[in-house]
Amino acid sequence: MSLRYKCAVNGCIDPISSQHRFPHPQKQAARFQEWMKIIAHLSLLNLNNIFIYNNYRVCLIHFRKEHVSINGRLYKCAIPALNLTSHTGWHMLKDQLKNRMKKPQARRFTLHDKIMGYKLLSRLFALPSRNTIMSVLKKIKFGCGINQVLFNHIKESIKNLQSQEKYCTLMFDEMALQANLHWSTSQDRIIGFEDYGFECSSKIADHALVFMLRLDLVL
Ligand SMILES: [Zn+2]
Repeated sequence: MSLRYKCAVNGCIDPISSQHRFPHPQKQAARFQEWMKIIAHLSLLNLNNIFIYNNYRVCLIHFRKEHVSINGRLYKCAIPALNLTSHTGWHMLKDQLKNRMKKPQARRFTLHDKIMGYKLLSRLFALPSRNTIMSVLKKIKFGCGINQVLFNHIKESIKNLQSQEKYCTLMFDEMALQANLHWSTSQDRIIGFEDYGFECSSKIADHALVFMLRLDLVL
């Protein structure tokens, strides 16, 4: 029985398909790094590249058939592309490194970061399903125009501040929108026309006016 190596792809337990070596970390350094980036297995990050080359393999199930010759060998262009378990860990680590040094207000997360964060946490904790969260979000009405809820929130937030702490900057700017009309089943109306909250027109909206209020701390 031939020796079976550990597959470098996180969580892979394929017991039968043939296994393939990484490109050599020195002779084919760029390809080796490309494979590592795609496979993105966190526990490999602390290992020496030569150790990975000697002790880990990648199963055939992770390669596209056009990257495999008729006798089962990999072509030079082959890169792992299939049955790769989620890249969650890798992305989360990158995001953490990127945001770690920034102040909380300066941290930025892409939509992907947020979704991946939820996916990772949902493996560890019993969280509400995506559908439950979406149905809760749908209940929050957020229409055009002046939103009284936001004003109430601002009022509540600053009620304990001193007078000099209430100095603020009000900024406003326009934001381009993708012109689009769609039927909202929950609101039973067409969304996408120019809407000021108190008045609508038949023009299709392509811009929004955005306000931002920032507290300026006066010392
Ligand atoms: Zn595998």
